[in-house]
Amino acid sequence: MNKFWIQTEEEMLEAGEKIGRTLNSGDVLVLTGELGTGKTTLTKGIAKGLEISQMIKSPTYTIIREYTKGRLPLFHMDVYRLGSGEGESIGLDEYFDREGVVVMEWGTNLSEELPEDYVEILLTYEKDQGGRLLELVGVGEQGQARADQLSK
Ligand code: ADP
Ligand code: MG
Repeated sequence: MNKFWIQTEEEMLEAGEKIGRTLNSGDVLVLTGELGTGKTTLTKGIAKGLEISQMIKSPTYTIIREYTKGRLPLFHMDVYRLGSGEGESIGLDEYFDREGVVVMEWGTNLSEELPEDYVEILLTYEKDQGGRLLELVGVGEQGQARADQLSK
């Protein structure tokens, strides 16, 4: 099952932590969902799963924040303000080749510049209150395999 019903912020953090524990170097996660659906919250959980104890701050204005003190380096990006073809301006390609994990909010803005294989995590509002739907979708053969593993 690749769909998870998340009811609270705490559950979103837990879902992220579980994903973070399973991540390997080279994994690229693209987080898709409207403002406020929990992309940054999920990333905080992922960081915890990577044993990163630094505080995760939204990279909305800086575009990239790097956390290098965990089990693996985490490159957290928010490319909301970048348009198609602008990934080069932040050296996006180099991050995909580095040791570590890339978590990219709004990555589908740069769909042309994404690697062949990645896992898209879709977040949507479900009903009212804190409800969210979290869905993992692999892109590319290896991306699909990773999505399956991360969904367990
Ligand atoms: P995004 O990065 O997608 O814009 P954020 O993670 O920054 O979203 O913000 C999500 C907001 O929604 C937070 O203020 C959080 O407290 C709140 N929230 C309420 N319910 C949930 C939930 N189930 N999962 C994640 N965040 C939730
Ligand atoms: Mg955010």
